[in-house]
Amino acid sequence: MPDTFRYSTYQAEWIGMEQQSVRTTYHYKLMPTPEQVRAMETVLLRCRSLYNCALEQRKTWWGRGQGIGATYYQQANELPDLKADCPDYREVHSQVLQDVLRRVEKTYQAFFRRVTTGETPGYPRFQGKNRYHSFTYPQYGNGAVVDGGILSLSKIGRIPIRLHRLLQGTPKMVTISRVADGWYVSFSCAEVPIQPLPRTGRETGIDVGLKVFLITADGDIVDNPRHHRKAEQGLKKAQRCVSRRKKGSKRWWKAVGRCAKKYQKVKRQRSDFHHKTALTLVRAYDTIYLEDLQVRNMVRNHHLAKSISDAGWAAFRTILAYKAEWAGRRVMAVPAQFTSQDCSGCGERVSKSLSVRTHVCPSCGLVMDRDENAALNILASGRAGPSGVNVAGCGERRLRSPAL
Ligand SMILES: [Zn+2]
Repeated sequence: MPDTFRYSTYQAEWIGMEQQSVRTTYHYKLMPTPEQVRAMETVLLRCRSLYNCALEQRKTWWGRGQGIGATYYQQANELPDLKADCPDYREVHSQVLQDVLRRVEKTYQAFFRRVTTGETPGYPRFQGKNRYHSFTYPQYGNGAVVDGGILSLSKIGRIPIRLHRLLQGTPKMVTISRVADGWYVSFSCAEVPIQPLPRTGRETGIDVGLKVFLITADGDIVDNPRHHRKAEQGLKKAQRCVSRRKKGSKRWWKAVGRCAKKYQKVKRQRSDFHHKTALTLVRAYDTIYLEDLQVRNMVRNHHLAKSISDAGWAAFRTILAYKAEWAGRRVMAVPAQFTSQDCSGCGERVSKSLSVRTHVCPSCGLVMDRDENAALNILASGRAGPSGVNVAGCGERRLRSPAL
């Protein structure tokens, strides 16, 4: 596309040294035959059992005091022997098995990280039937490849894909997952060219509200959809149905499936809302400032917990950062101190508790919605200095909240 190319050259002046491509993931629905579903179920089963075995082995090493030194390579080196002993594992592509061991390694590293930071983490858990949903071909082209709308998976077969959008960039990893309504494939792609939008010359600050989802420094309000609360009644009902049935029975599994579908719907509605809101902001502004919030700490506060989790603020920020990066825009985090206390008119610090929803300044007489005042402060703080941290580019790593 020569047009896009010209565009990015023009944008390059403005965004300077920033990257011209991003990493992204494309998801597509699979349309497997019943036989292929069985084959994928088998792979999942084998992967899960390998995961649990590898975890068990690490546990033994840990008991002997070797736990910390144990590496992925030690376990990966034992794979050929394992295959010789249990021919079942030969049904699974070898790189998929290696990826399972990498997952164990990752879980373990996270576990030790929490130990060293003084937290009291639970030991990594063994994965039950309903907790292991995906397997990964770590190298595109090695066991998994797409050709004309058909995904060819080694040891499974050729599965048609619902290609609702074009894959761009260079596919790196292929993950197959089972979710409530079927099977999906996701391609993690590198070097996906960004599609910069023309400059608008505008910038804003945004603040998360309690009653509204967010408010901009221009006073624009995005209301909270509260999908979760609306759907909660339905979810509760589905949950009750699960708990009434005999665990592990056919009817129980059916109820679990129905419940999972309800959760999935809420999740999708929420993500759709996030994407649309982020897109609107990214189209309107060159730079968006937001508060560098520790969402994890806020969720621990029980009064706010519901609202914050509902709004999925952290998930939204990840999406916003990614969309901004894609469009050649900037999302910057500014320090979160006193943004709701200070007066955006004169800078006077006006202390107020969370229940006070309106900012009233005794020195300049400014009367304004609390969150709008905060959004204006965030914008001013972003404009003022280099203290802002560019969120785009590292947003996913920094902002993903474990609570959401
Ligand atoms: Zn004032």
